[in-house]
Amino acid sequence: EGCREGGGNMAAGDAQGLCGPALLGAVPGAPSCPHGPALLFAKTSQGKEEGRRFYACSACRDRKDCNFFQWEDEKVSETRLAAREEYNRNHQPSFTHRQNVERYKNFVQLPLSKRRFCQECQQLLLPAEWEKHSDHQFLCDISTVQLKSPSQLLYPLENKKTNAQYLFTDRSCQFLLDLIINLGFRRVLSVGTPRLHEMIQSNASQEEDFRVRSLLLDIDFRYSQFYTEDEFCHYNMFNHYFFGGEAAHETCRKFLHQDNGERLIMVTDPPFGGLVEALASSFKKLMAMWTETGKEGPNNQEMPMFWIFPYFFESRILEFFPSFSMMDYQVDYDNHALYKHGKTGRRQSPVRIFTNLTPSMIVLPLEEGYRFCAICQRYVSSGNQHCEICNSCTSKDGRRWKHCVLCKKCVKPSWFHCNVCNCCALQTHTCEKADAGCFVCGKAGHKRSACPSLSRA
Ligand code: SAH
Ligand code: ZN
Ligand code: ZN
Ligand code: ZN
Ligand code: ZN
Repeated sequence: EGCREGGGNMAAGDAQGLCGPALLGAVPGAPSCPHGPALLFAKTSQGKEEGRRFYACSACRDRKDCNFFQWEDEKVSETRLAAREEYNRNHQPSFTHRQNVERYKNFVQLPLSKRRFCQECQQLLLPAEWEKHSDHQFLCDISTVQLKSPSQLLYPLENKKTNAQYLFTDRSCQFLLDLIINLGFRRVLSVGTPRLHEMIQSNASQEEDFRVRSLLLDIDFRYSQFYTEDEFCHYNMFNHYFFGGEAAHETCRKFLHQDNGERLIMVTDPPFGGLVEALASSFKKLMAMWTETGKEGPNNQEMPMFWIFPYFFESRILEFFPSFSMMDYQVDYDNHALYKHGKTGRRQSPVRIFTNLTPSMIVLPLEEGYRFCAICQRYVSSGNQHCEICNSCTSKDGRRWKHCVLCKKCVKPSWFHCNVCNCCALQTHTCEKADAGCFVCGKAGHKRSACPSLSRA
């Protein structure tokens, strides 16, 4: 199974932090690139930290998108610091959010025939600017409906390593919104979920009882053309950085605060390429902001959250959020070849919802084959059979798993017990020689799947 990058050169193992540089995190005094404070990493070899530590961009894992690099112990001269500051300033968007809001106001005053959108610059154009974009492709007659669905108008930023913008299918998005409303939430902090935000905004005119409000936090600044400063904050979820400074931070705080009986949930669908710990640390900061606003209800309550992520990150997420559990619902995407409905029936999407809400409250659609397991007290996929021995519905991928008495757990249907490896694997696997050493920690005597450094209590 790959990560969201699919064809990228990052293997699933890398995505799960088994190789590649180790993230040490956001540290005070870290230098900044145009994407806010850089993160500290360490080079690793076979799971061990070794060599010098360095800072790199938090948002872009492709050097082509942001090549910021600095050794932790590097002395940076005053001239270079000044040059860097200037570089960071020059790499901010050409219009501020405030300017974009003004431009939008002017844009909607225009007759349809004068409403153009430059596809190359991904920008709404005012008539005075047509000239400058004359040899660019553009769309005409931008309607109000189009302005209310920016995720349809903008092209998805699919560049493999940085934005990985994969948009929900209408089915998944509507399911999420219905679920949120049925659970009684009336405010949604949408972190990297522009399509959910957009669906909420366009439903906002609905009946009072079901009116939901949303604040979008996303690194994609193109959205600032369509939303006011109360509806969108330019935000980096890998370092909890608000590009709009204290004012934007305050907007978010206020949104989390205005509780007048309207319960709030955070929904996030981050790029899948690793850095789970960076995401977790930002989400904990957002949770702390919510807690500080003095919500109602019992103490020690966590901000309700849906974290949408592939099932193979389950143990990583639970490491940081032990109160979370994984739901069987398969989230799918419009522009992801692998994670969407195929022509011949449905493909299985590996993307799931992780939540700190009580699993039994997350009602999954029976018409799509989900059923309620009374023993597990949660909804499960149709193929997910309750295993009497494990006493749990054990399938992770939606297919029916089978119990292996030797492994003492359920395994994928395509696996068989291998007596050489002493565990279940694909029949076509090459037996790992125990003396070759573990792929993760390098020690002999066990293999990667049995590595003690990965096991959780
Ligand atoms: N399925 C969602 C989109 C998820 S794609 C929907 O349909 O609404 C991931 C989203 O995270 C994109 O909107 C992307 O712009 C955003 N994103 C990527 N990197 C980010 C970062 N470092 N900080 C904040 N948002 C980021
Ligand atoms: Zn243009
Ligand atoms: Zn069960
Ligand atoms: Zn079992
Ligand atoms: Zn086995």
